[in-house]
Amino acid sequence: MSSIETLKERSGGVCELCAATQGLDIYDVSHAPTLDDGEIVICATCKAQLEGEAPLDTDHWRVLGDSMWSGVGAVQVMAYRMLHRLEAQEWARGLLETLYVEPEIESWAQQGMQSTQANEPTLDSNGVLLQGGDSVSIIKDLEVKGAGFTAKRGTVVKNITLTDNPEQIEGRVNGVRIVLLSKFLKKI
Ligand SMILES: [Zn+2]
Repeated sequence: MSSIETLKERSGGVCELCAATQGLDIYDVSHAPTLDDGEIVICATCKAQLEGEAPLDTDHWRVLGDSMWSGVGAVQVMAYRMLHRLEAQEWARGLLETLYVEPEIESWAQQGMQSTQANEPTLDSNGVLLQGGDSVSIIKDLEVKGAGFTAKRGTVVKNITLTDNPEQIEGRVNGVRIVLLSKFLKKI
């Protein structure tokens, strides 16, 4: 997994979606072929809107006209998904017409767009439906193989990502992106 410093070096110290310089953080783009591939740097403004904590400000996303040409696959995927969400806007449709992405990037982007309907539901320990972007808490101490630490009971994991397996989700614990079993989680 990459550190925020490594990613900032790649991005030139700016949000990879809107080029803002403040409030930068790692964002995990769902359905990445490997966990590392999905990591991008985004700013607090982009993040709040992507996670549904702030209403979608359509004009903010006009910058996708630049960032959709990023050489980073995960950024192309986010641009593709956002432009489809904004398809009601004429400018977004215009950008989509000019956007070209490699077939594998397109199928990665589309997986994230369909996952909530196509797959078996992912349920937490109480049978509550989990969705991408949800926050959960861990209900028992879990040893994280490979990473060499224990994810403690009560740890909150924000902005989870669903996987193709309804028994597993992905999330960031101690700054490390790991796979967690949904049966050991509780939606909060
Ligand atoms: Zn941004």
